[in-house]
Amino acid sequence: MATEEYVTVTKNACKLCTPLGASLFFKGICGSIPLLHGSQGCSTYIRRYLISHFKEPVDIACSNFGEQTAIFGGEVNLKVAFDNIIRQYNPEFIGVATTCLSETIGDDVPMFIRKYKEANRDNKLPQLVYVSTASYRGTHIDGFHDSVKATVDILTSEYSYCKRENSINIFPGMLSPADLRYLKEIFNDFDVPFVMLPDYSQILDGSPWKEYQKFPKGGTKVENIINMGTAKACIEFGKILAEQNSAGKLLNKRYDMPCYNIGIPMGIHETDIFFNSIETITGKSTPEKYIEERGRLIDSYIDSHKYVMGVRAAVYGEEDMVVAIVSFLNEIGIIPVLCASGGKSGYFKDKIREMISDFDEKGIVVIDDSDFSHIETFAKQLKPDILIGSSKGYAISRSLKIPLIRVGFPIHDRINGSRILHIGYRGAQQLFDTIVNTLLEKRQESSVVGYSYM
Ligand code: SF4
Repeated sequence: MATEEYVTVTKNACKLCTPLGASLFFKGICGSIPLLHGSQGCSTYIRRYLISHFKEPVDIACSNFGEQTAIFGGEVNLKVAFDNIIRQYNPEFIGVATTCLSETIGDDVPMFIRKYKEANRDNKLPQLVYVSTASYRGTHIDGFHDSVKATVDILTSEYSYCKRENSINIFPGMLSPADLRYLKEIFNDFDVPFVMLPDYSQILDGSPWKEYQKFPKGGTKVENIINMGTAKACIEFGKILAEQNSAGKLLNKRYDMPCYNIGIPMGIHETDIFFNSIETITGKSTPEKYIEERGRLIDSYIDSHKYVMGVRAAVYGEEDMVVAIVSFLNEIGIIPVLCASGGKSGYFKDKIREMISDFDEKGIVVIDDSDFSHIETFAKQLKPDILIGSSKGYAISRSLKIPLIRVGFPIHDRINGSRILHIGYRGAQQLFDTIVNTLLEKRQESSVVGYSYM
C-alpha cells in the first residue's frame, strides 16, 4: 500500500491576516467604522488582536456570514450591516474589507455598494470605501496599504482640484501611535500644514472615558482626505512600498504631485533623508530641537559603540519594518545575521543587500514568506546575540535563551505597544539605549564575578 508523506507547510506564519491591516487603517479615520464582509470569527480575532496590543476598545462591524450566506452570497447581509451601522453609529465613513470566505465565494462587493447607493440616493450616506483583502493573498501590511490607496482613490476621484496648497500629505504606514504623535510634532515644529493618513494616535492611545464613546477623539478628517489632491507634495514611508502601487503614486499620477518615497526613518541615515525631504518641499530649515536630538544620538553612538560593535542580531517582522531596522543596525555596527519576514514582495533581499556593502562576507541570511519555525531553525544555526521583532518571537527567545527587543506589531506580552517610538532621532535613541542596556544586562547576568560599575 502506498503511503503519503504529510508536510507541515506553515506552522506559525510571520505575518497577520490581511483585513487586520485594513481594520487598523480604517480606525485611523475620524468618524469611521471598519466593516468586515464575512464571518464573525474573523472580526472577533482581529478585535482581540488589536485590543491586546493597543489596550483600547476597538469596534469592528461584521456582515455576519452564516451557512446560507456562504452558499448564496452576502449581498443582503452587507445591506443590513450598512443599515445597522448607519442607524447605530451615524458614521462619516465605513471601510469595507473582505475576509477569506467572501473572497472565496466571489462576492461582487463593488456592485453591492453601487446598488446600495442607488437604493439610497435620497439619503445622506457616509463615504463607503471597499478594499479586497483575501488573507491567502497577502499580509496585514498589504491590507493596510491597499486600504490607504483605496480610500485616497475614492475620496479624491470626484473632485478636480484647480489650485495647489502648501500642505504636505504624509503616508506613514503601519507605525505606533507614539510614532504618529512624533510625526505631528515634527510637522507642527516646521510650521507647515499637513494631512497624515491614517492617524490613530489618539483613537488607539487616548485618555480614559467616563462613558463609552462610539467614536474616540482623533483621526484623519474625511474632508482633509478629500483635499489631499491639493497638496504640494506627498511623503510616503517604505522602500518595499516604493516599488508597489501606492496612494502616493496614485496622487502623483493623477495630479502630477511630487511624491517622496523614502524608507521608514529609523536611525540617523534614514531620518536625515526624511528631514531633508521636508526641507526641500518647504524651503525651511530643520528646527534646532531636532538638530540637538541628532547630536545627542551621535554622542551616545560614540559612547557605546564598544558594546554593540560586531553583535549579531536576528530581525523579523513586516518587510519594510525589517528593512528600516537593518538600516539602523548597520549604522551602529550590529550585524543583522538573520532577516526574516512573512511577506513575499520579491524586493526584500535586494533592499537589504543594497544597504549592506559587505552583505555576502557577513553571511547574512534573508528569508521571506517565512514562519516562526523557519526563523527558529535558522536562528539555531546563525547563533544571534539578540532577537528584534514583535512579541510573537518570544518562544524563540525563550528556547534559545537570547533576549528579545520588542518592536512593531503585535506586542501582546508587554504594556507599551502603543508607546514604542521607532522613528526619528528620538526613536533611534530609545531603540539604541534599549539594545545597549539589554546587552549589558545579559553580560552582567552571565558574569561569574558580577559587577556594578562599567
Ligand atoms: S479566515 Fe481569513 S480573514 Fe478570517 S481571520 Fe482567518 S485569515 Fe483572517
